[in-house]
Parts: sequence; structure tokens; C-alpha cells
Amino acid sequence: MPHGSCSPLEAPPSAFALTGDPGRPVRGLAALPPPLSGPAIVCGAPPGCSLRWSLLAPPGCAVRVNGLPLATGFRALLDGDEIRFGSSLALFTATEVPRVVPFPGGPLPVRCLRCRSVIASRSPALRCPGSGCGLWFHQSADLPCFTGPAERPFSTCASCVLPAALSPSFPWTPEEP
Ligand SMILES: [Zn+2]
Ligand SMILES: [Zn+2]
Repeated sequence: MPHGSCSPLEAPPSAFALTGDPGRPVRGLAALPPPLSGPAIVCGAPPGCSLRWSLLAPPGCAVRVNGLPLATGFRALLDGDEIRFGSSLALFTATEVPRVVPFPGGPLPVRCLRCRSVIASRSPALRCPGSGCGLWFHQSADLPCFTGPAERPFSTCASCVLPAALSPSFPWTPEEP
């Protein structure tokens, strides 16, 4: 099992240093320092693109992905890649974490997929980050349309296979929507 699990970051930067510390395997960077002093994970594309995150490492750096050294100093990270550095082991996941946000609204009314009523602008809502899904739900104590009520939680999104939980037990992810 990977160690070094940590909870999703609140306001994630788009570059992270690998620390080698199993207690805290990644640390957000305000900017990518030139030159790199150690391995770093950087975001190079907007949300929705595949292969958004890459691992960069300076020459001779002892970082391994899925057991192999990073020969070229660069690798586009794929879902499930295992990154080992120092005494830390981290698992990369491209899956974004379901997150409640004020509903941004739009030119047309949007109906919640679960209860079919219109989601009011700025009300607590959740856009399913499941692959190819992206549908909106109410998500509050009164209208837990994504997760279901606490006593009878739904197992998955009403439209896709993403677990209907706000904190799925991903090892870590460098990003939230
Ligand atoms: Zn609803
Ligand atoms: Zn979904």
C-alpha cells in the first residue's frame, strides 16, 4: 500500500515538489524554480485535457515511476502511476475529487439529474467529475442529490460509475476542479 496519503489540497497550485518524506510526499510550489533542485509535478494543460500533469526531474535524480528511473527527466503522468522518491511512495490519480461549489448558473436553467428540479444560481451544487459525466446535482444538507441522505447514501453518481462520496479515498491527487 502506498504511504504518504494526504487529503486533497484546498487551493492547489499548479506545481508540486516531491519531498521524499513519506509523511508529506508532495508540497505545493508557488512557482517552478529554475533550475529544478528535485523532482516536481507540474500542470501543463487546462481542465478537461488528458495528460495534464507531468513529472520533471533534474539529471541524476533518483525518482522512479512504476519502478523505472526517469531516463529523460520528463514523463506525462497517467492514472495509477506509482511515483517513488526517497522513502516516499505516492500514487498519481487523474480523477478529480467531487466538490461542492456555488452553482455558477448559465444561459439556460440546469436541472439536477437526481431530483430534476432547477438548480438555483449560487446554491450549493456539485458537478460530477466522473470521466465523460460532468452533470450537475444539488448538494447540501437539505438536498444531498449527489451523495444521497446520510442514512441512505447512494453508491454512485446517478449517471456514471463515480462513487457518490465527497471524499473518496484516493491516495492523493494534485488537483481539484
Ligand atoms: Zn437535486
Ligand atoms: Zn457522474
